[in-house]
Amino acid sequence: MSYLSKTDPEIADIIEKERLRQTNGLELIASENLVSHAVLEAMGSIMTNKYAEGYPGKRYYGGCEFHDEAENLARDRLKKLFGAEYANVQPHSGTQANMAVYFAFMNLGDTLMSMKLTQGGHLSHGSPVSFTGKFYKVAQYSLDPKTEMLDYGTIEEMARKEKPKMLVCGASAYPRTIDFKAFQEIADSVGAYCMADIAHIAGLCATGVHPNSVGVVNFTTTTTHKTLRGPRGGAIMANAEYGPAIDKAVFPGMQGGPLMHTITAKAVCFEEALRPSFTEYNKQIVKNAKVLAETLMANGLRLVSGGTDNHLMLLDLTAQGITGLEAETALGKAAITVNKNTIPNETKSPFITSGLRVGTPAVTSRGMKESEMRMIGNWIATVVKDVKNEAAIRDVRAKVEAMAGKFPIYPE
Ligand code: PLP
Repeated sequence: MSYLSKTDPEIADIIEKERLRQTNGLELIASENLVSHAVLEAMGSIMTNKYAEGYPGKRYYGGCEFHDEAENLARDRLKKLFGAEYANVQPHSGTQANMAVYFAFMNLGDTLMSMKLTQGGHLSHGSPVSFTGKFYKVAQYSLDPKTEMLDYGTIEEMARKEKPKMLVCGASAYPRTIDFKAFQEIADSVGAYCMADIAHIAGLCATGVHPNSVGVVNFTTTTTHKTLRGPRGGAIMANAEYGPAIDKAVFPGMQGGPLMHTITAKAVCFEEALRPSFTEYNKQIVKNAKVLAETLMANGLRLVSGGTDNHLMLLDLTAQGITGLEAETALGKAAITVNKNTIPNETKSPFITSGLRVGTPAVTSRGMKESEMRMIGNWIATVVKDVKNEAAIRDVRAKVEAMAGKFPIYPE
């Protein structure tokens, strides 16, 4: 930041404060991660200086030859990573990747069937406050109230009744394995398309740590910044036959110029994800989540569905008599960053909630393993069981900062 600190010290100071927050604390927000130096460099590069509306070989601006090379590499690497026939790397975000698939294959007023937000779904899957809830008729499935897991029989029944045009699977807060084949079969049986939004678990899917949706369902959408550990953005994969309609829906359908610095950084991320070390990394994310979950449960805390198969877990704080908001605030004081989250059959508002979502991608990126997860689990339990105990929170913060100091995010 040597240049910025001279030209705009106010902003340089804000960035430095955020660097210290990330360095000294523990990031346990399940949808966040820490990108590599190489991804940061590509994102902060001169590739931002260019308009490149269109696609490689068919641009609406001159001088795009090197942008074509970068976007072709990004697409080819992503296809290789997931075994996809077709990829589009231009969506600015996960929500826009979803929007492009809806725009390409649905008409306004068609039925979209997906998981309820309060059960773990995402806003862009049909929430009334999102465009999806305004443009489409929405039918939403819930988890089995006993197991707190997906119940494919009930989903099939609902699909038969609602006759959706698009059946969406994938979630923001679901700690268990998703059976993509079962979803596609349900969609096929009612003449619907099936879209898997693997935003959260993309890294796990790419490395075989979770079953891959690509080649199984009609369309796969993702963000690139969660378990994939890339820049913030979205991507879409599908069989080649769907490519032209998706390309048209992204541009000119809903976006103008692609963010070429981000697409270049996506290419860097996908190359990193093709390395054997990325598979090891994703295996470690899941091992870490299992140990963290076991530690929390050993401390008497309840996890929705009784555990986790992936990178995240959902704590139900009802028995502790505190809200997700209170727990998030107390943990924040201890330099442990998490987010409050609704739990199945939530009784509180999304801003208060009864639960917490906890994930291991970012701490695993720092090199933390099972022994650190045990410590983190015990610290979380100490704080949430006694959120008003300021002395205990200060003590946990000192321990968190001491441990974080041993795992630099960007070692020299
Ligand atoms: N889909 C799922 C399942 C998500 O969890 C998220 C974000 O958390 C998104 C889509 C949206 O991504 P973005 O925030 O990039 O629009």
